[in-house]
Amino acid sequence: MSENSCSSCQSCSDGNCGDRLPPGMLCQYNLNQETSDGIMVFIELIESEGALRLHPSVPGILTKAREISDGRLFGIIFAKVDGKDLYDEIFSYGVDTLYHMRNPKHHGYSPRSYSRSFSEVIKRVGPSAVLLPATPIGRELAPLTAALLETGLTADCTDLKIEGCRLHMIRPALGGNIIASIVSDSYPNMATVRPGAFSDVKKETGRKGTAISHPYTIDEETEKSTSDDILDITESRILISIGNGVRKPSSVDYAFKIAESIGANVSCSRTVVDKGWLPQTRQVGQSGKMVSPDIYIAFGISGSVQHMAGVKAKKIITVNKDRNAPIASLSDTVIVGDCDQILRKWADSLQN
Ligand code: FAD
Repeated sequence: MSENSCSSCQSCSDGNCGDRLPPGMLCQYNLNQETSDGIMVFIELIESEGALRLHPSVPGILTKAREISDGRLFGIIFAKVDGKDLYDEIFSYGVDTLYHMRNPKHHGYSPRSYSRSFSEVIKRVGPSAVLLPATPIGRELAPLTAALLETGLTADCTDLKIEGCRLHMIRPALGGNIIASIVSDSYPNMATVRPGAFSDVKKETGRKGTAISHPYTIDEETEKSTSDDILDITESRILISIGNGVRKPSSVDYAFKIAESIGANVSCSRTVVDKGWLPQTRQVGQSGKMVSPDIYIAFGISGSVQHMAGVKAKKIITVNKDRNAPIASLSDTVIVGDCDQILRKWADSLQN
């Protein structure tokens, strides 16, 4: 590496890539079996008696990860500056490198901000496996992060093994009648671990590791709009419903602007919930809510059986780039076009 070369990335030689990162975080967006190394654990923190602590399931997961990994063990925490008080304890459970995601406005778990930052760190570090406790937070954060990484996820593991770079994720299946050992071809291999699965904890007091403090962004506007569920979608007479065909997060804001102008509400398909763009309370369908508005305007929704099971509308208007999407045959009006563009133009026209 030349004297001027970038300490953050391997691809630029002049140190001017504009993508400077803390040491240890490389511009590595190519997650695969050859380049991946080590295990990354989401270290969930809780507040107890005014102090920040590790979730009780975390030491067991770290101990297990240390035991099965012959590579590095990475941890990640989201906290204000007080997260520093936990470094020694975290290193004592075998963590080599700890990413401390910091924001002075940190106010605890927020799904969208955590999953976005977590996935970015994973992309840059390139671990072969990622583990989270199967707590309510872990159960939500894991699929959101896996969706952003476009990788698989095995939930609720009770044991773990590693062969080469491949994680064997072991859990009861078929109603608990068999114990399945699941392997995945997508990288990183991701799993949540049932709390209490690993009760043996090994601690090496005084063990040293590296802590890397890195700012993370809290998407206040979106967090507010998603948690601020005042109107129940089941009570709305007009629903603007968005699906996977909506590609730009800004289109969600346009949908809300339109809804506000015309007295409607915003609902969605499950893919939008999986992306972390809207909360599950806005999901229509078999595993969401049953809605019966006068008008259901579906943007970029294909019309799966599971989604349409929740739609009992008087009129369905579909906006889709595919004239033959299954929802088209169930719709009163079909507008063939790009939904991001149409949402933006509609919102602009209402504003003007
Ligand atoms: P997709 O199927 O990906 O469709 C996207 C659509 O957008 C396509 O028609 C495409 O032509 C169109 N499109 C793409 N780009 C553009 C563009 N630029 N402009 C315009 N159109 C575009 N799903 C639910 O929604 N609710 C549920 O409650 C639910 N429960 C489920 C329960 C179970 C047990 C299972 C297995 C699945 C469930 N699903 C549910 C998931 C369901 O099977 C579908 O995967 C999901 O509904 C698909 O969502 P979608 O239509 O938004 O996305």
